[in-house]
Amino acid sequence: MMRKRTVSVIRAVDDVTFDLQPGETLGLVGESGSGKTTTARCILRALAPSAGSVLFRQANGTTVDLAAVSENALKPLRPHMQMVFQDPFSSLNPRMTVGQIVSEPLVIHGLGTRREREERVADILRKVGLKPEHRMRYPHAFSGGQRQRIGIARALVMRPSLVVADEAVSALDVSVQAQVLNLLKDLQGEFQLTYLFVAHNLDVVRHFCDRVAVMYAGRIVELAPTDALFRDPQHPYTRALLSAVPWPDPDVKMHFEAPGEVADPSRLPSGCAFHPRCPHCFEPCPAVRPDLRVTAPGRSAACHLHDPAFASSAAAKIQ
Ligand code: SF4
Repeated sequence: MMRKRTVSVIRAVDDVTFDLQPGETLGLVGESGSGKTTTARCILRALAPSAGSVLFRQANGTTVDLAAVSENALKPLRPHMQMVFQDPFSSLNPRMTVGQIVSEPLVIHGLGTRREREERVADILRKVGLKPEHRMRYPHAFSGGQRQRIGIARALVMRPSLVVADEAVSALDVSVQAQVLNLLKDLQGEFQLTYLFVAHNLDVVRHFCDRVAVMYAGRIVELAPTDALFRDPQHPYTRALLSAVPWPDPDVKMHFEAPGEVADPSRLPSGCAFHPRCPHCFEPCPAVRPDLRVTAPGRSAACHLHDPAFASSAAAKIQ
């Protein structure tokens, strides 16, 4: 007798909308399982979203929907969008020399002659603080910070406009993190790069990003300029996230807790997914899912406390 297999569909991210301006750094933060990496992978079409669109404005001013184009049409766009991975130890092929690793994307996309590729590799190795002669060596001969520089060189050799950095410094020592972040900042200025910076280290995000999007249970719950978000977080989950970090800065004082576990994506709570953990939960929260709405110029939050329709009961709740 054949056993019937049941297949359940989990929405890892849902109704995620944000824009990314040329030359800015947008931080994407949230606990593990909040949907950060899935969002980043959908933007690069490493994962195909089941619905929605990812609009990418090209240098010639035309816009293309990355979620809808065919693989063939996507191929010439790939060089413009690159990724720097989290783990500099496992993301580099130990059997390839640094030169082979960094030039591989150029070879795959058939860019330049062999001589031109060698020159481009030597140039980008210099730009990331390595030496052209390092191209003859293998990854194991380098420290963690140097390996991450190799990963950055591999991403930038294609001269992309968008770089997704997925926990790009979290595997590094604190002092090395600072060096790599400074390097990323310098390279951003030199190559006019736009960064989507996926991270869980809020201190790093605070110092590196222009704006921050906070994700919870597969949705963006708050989006704001970095200073505003850290000074005055509007969503209860953002406050909980910031409370979990010991801040040396007296401007950031948080005493807020969210008991319980992160919502399970296969069994999301009804209404606001954060409501079982939220100390401000009031009448509409268990039943009505809050939309991400503008709360101030440049700021938005998905919380009924900021919905004019519930203003009177929200005011009573937070008194
Ligand atoms: Fe809390 Fe309600 Fe806001 Fe959700 S919508 S974060 S439960 S106050």
